[in-house]
Amino acid sequence: MGKVYLTGAGPGDIELLTLKALKAIKKADVIVYDRLANPDILKEAKDGCEFIYVGKEDGKHTLPQEEINKLLYELALKYENVVRLKGGDPLVFGRGGEEALYLKEKGIEFEFIPGITSAIAVPEYAGIPVTHRGLTVSFRVVTGHESPYKQRSQIPWQNFKTDDTIVFLMGLHNLDKITKKLIEIGKPKDYPIAVISKGTTKDEKTIIGTLEDIYEKAKDLPTPALIVVGEVVKLHDKLSWFEQ
Ligand code: SAH
Repeated sequence: MGKVYLTGAGPGDIELLTLKALKAIKKADVIVYDRLANPDILKEAKDGCEFIYVGKEDGKHTLPQEEINKLLYELALKYENVVRLKGGDPLVFGRGGEEALYLKEKGIEFEFIPGITSAIAVPEYAGIPVTHRGLTVSFRVVTGHESPYKQRSQIPWQNFKTDDTIVFLMGLHNLDKITKKLIEIGKPKDYPIAVISKGTTKDEKTIIGTLEDIYEKAKDLPTPALIVVGEVVKLHDKLSWFEQ
């Protein structure tokens, strides 16, 4: 029986792959990969390595999660080294935990290989530190996938009144609702916000705005994109280095 490496591919820039991930990729017999993992990484695999794409296209999975779990199990019966490659870190909104639980239940050995998460690295490439002394003492990473107006939302919106930096992943299609909700809970309309598209890649683009005007400015940016809310956004003017 083989082993499954639940591996983070980093946020886009191939050089942000860890040495540990690279080592696993080089000895993989099969790589099961997502839309967000930089496909150039696959060039590092050995000859004869099998590639299986299970990414999302237009919001729907090519394979439902249960099928991916099953696929990993079946591959582990067949191959020695199975790499499950995911964008960023496998456990930050990556469902790596679910896959590991399934494998565990089936008696398959697994390993997590952490990746550099987009939640920190993408703002960083845009010159936005997620914490900065004097501006914020903490940051949150929140799913933006759920509408803030959904009944019984699990997101504690009332806690967002503080000046923590908030990074929303998967939130571009809810940008209008998210900004309205933040104003509703009491944030000033001119509170700083950034949307960063295709971060850490040659197509990276950052749009800076306020809670009131960002939607009109950023709504047509291509995905993947993330949203950063907080005073730290103001540092972009001085610290932007990558998009030059
Ligand atoms: N496990 C991943 C996140 C998966 S959720 C990680 O740790 O990075 C997918 C979301 O991540 C996207 O909807 C987007 O909000 C964000 N994202 C991933 N890569 C990105 C990139 N290169 N630029 C901007 N946002 C990105």
